[in-house]
Amino acid sequence: MDLPHFPLHPNAYRLNLFAAETGVCEVCEQPRDYQYTGVFYSQDEVDYICPWCVADGSAAAKYSGQFNDAMGIEGTEFGAEDADGEVKVTWTLAEADIKQVCQHTPAYSSWQQGQWLVCCGKPCAFIAYADSAMLAPIWSEIEVDVLQHGIPVAWVREHLRVDGDLAGYLFQCVDCSKHRLHLDCA
Ligand SMILES: [Zn+2]
Ligand SMILES: [Zn+2]
Repeated sequence: MDLPHFPLHPNAYRLNLFAAETGVCEVCEQPRDYQYTGVFYSQDEVDYICPWCVADGSAAAKYSGQFNDAMGIEGTEFGAEDADGEVKVTWTLAEADIKQVCQHTPAYSSWQQGQWLVCCGKPCAFIAYADSAMLAPIWSEIEVDVLQHGIPVAWVREHLRVDGDLAGYLFQCVDCSKHRLHLDCA
């Protein structure tokens, strides 16, 4: 059986958000071969969630939970001021897009609470954990994101590693294809 595809997390399997682990899904109660390994925000302790129950929203519905925190979606938090004291431009995603991120899309593994980036008024797709080599060809697209984080540009250009204490999370716009980068620290 083909595994479900996640439009906002197209590399979820390759990035090990699901482990090859046989078990019975606690949501659909079917024997499955892949277990979700990422964060699930819920009152209940849920051990085994299969990819189908992530994708179709049934796990989130059954436990009133979410895989990605709505407050972590870019532009839905209180606007922060940039260095010039300007209030940052914010986006308001459609309800359906917020649901897609929080209830139908796996989280990604991060040091701090995950942020979900937005472009063209739509949630971006999470592409990869980034290192400097990966960022080089798309530097012009993501430089503004690096500057915004206040982390030295030269450091990110040369020393960003996938498993380092400073981590980069690469997104891509589903509309204009521009790359976006989120950074956090251990
Ligand atoms: Zn299931
Ligand atoms: Zn865009």
